[in-house]
Amino acid sequence: MLLKVNNLRKYFPVYGRSVLPRPVGAVKAVDGVSFAVRRGETLGLVGESGCGKSTTGRSILRLIEPTDGEIIFAGRDIRKLPRRQMRALRREMQIIFQDPYASLNPRLSVREIIAEPLRIHGLAGGPELGKRVRRLMELVGLSVEQENRYPHQFSGGQRQRIGIARALAVNPRLIICDEPVSALDVSIQAQVINLLEDLQKEFSLTYIFIAHDLGVVKHISDRVAVMYLGRIVELAASRELYRAPRHPYTKALLSAIPVPQPGRKRERIILPGDVPSPLSPPGGCSFHPRCPWAGPDCSLKTPELMDDGNGHLVACHLVH
Ligand code: SF4
Repeated sequence: MLLKVNNLRKYFPVYGRSVLPRPVGAVKAVDGVSFAVRRGETLGLVGESGCGKSTTGRSILRLIEPTDGEIIFAGRDIRKLPRRQMRALRREMQIIFQDPYASLNPRLSVREIIAEPLRIHGLAGGPELGKRVRRLMELVGLSVEQENRYPHQFSGGQRQRIGIARALAVNPRLIICDEPVSALDVSIQAQVINLLEDLQKEFSLTYIFIAHDLGVVKHISDRVAVMYLGRIVELAASRELYRAPRHPYTKALLSAIPVPQPGRKRERIILPGDVPSPLSPPGGCSFHPRCPWAGPDCSLKTPELMDDGNGHLVACHLVH
């Protein structure tokens, strides 16, 4: 395993309005998440907005400091690493953001944006730096003639390619793709996903691919974890999860994906209400207020995420 995440928690304190602000509660954005990712694998991490998937990704990279839990990357518990060692290790763990425009410095040319991480990590300088930048531009399908252009002179898809080149520059082993295609047109989404797949094969990359839509992660993911209110509710091999989802929330998410065959329809499961606030999640199974199959036990007991023995994990009283 390249990455193991054990019982990861990220709570954001909420402060009262008194003169001396004291925490009066906590938003439990990530609440006991565990999973592992093999070398060369893509794990899809899916759920509605606010389910904690991006917070999980950023906590793994320690871009935000986790509240609790273990993050073992290549055999080392990175929460125990001093700042300097963490900085060196960050080279091996990169992130691609949802909004490529916001994540690229508008005052730097493409050449400067891609060269920056190479320079910071001391990986190239002088004429070698220019060569490496141009090679990276070619790899992600950008024309080297565009190296002096600025981010605003590119389309959304091209800007995402710049973000990918910047992440690739430091030869990472793990890339967290945080909704990398959500802001792009559907036709461009496929191109960027194909590019990520090609690069994965060429450089043996490992991905955690975060998305709010199960349809987006279907083809790229080897396994998929579905999150709801800060927890994983189902985790399985991609083919298995799409063929036979077991958790009611996964079934509802899947029912929203259009079927590509004309004349065939999938029965849509409409969930009542919105995702509850992670500040005061419902007791028992946090999905029970919206679950069409909720029983009397569901509001009392929290279901554990349990393996069926074949690597299909589900947290639901109906299943176990
Ligand atoms: Fe629905 Fe109960 Fe299963 Fe939760 S534990 S998903 S409420 S059936």
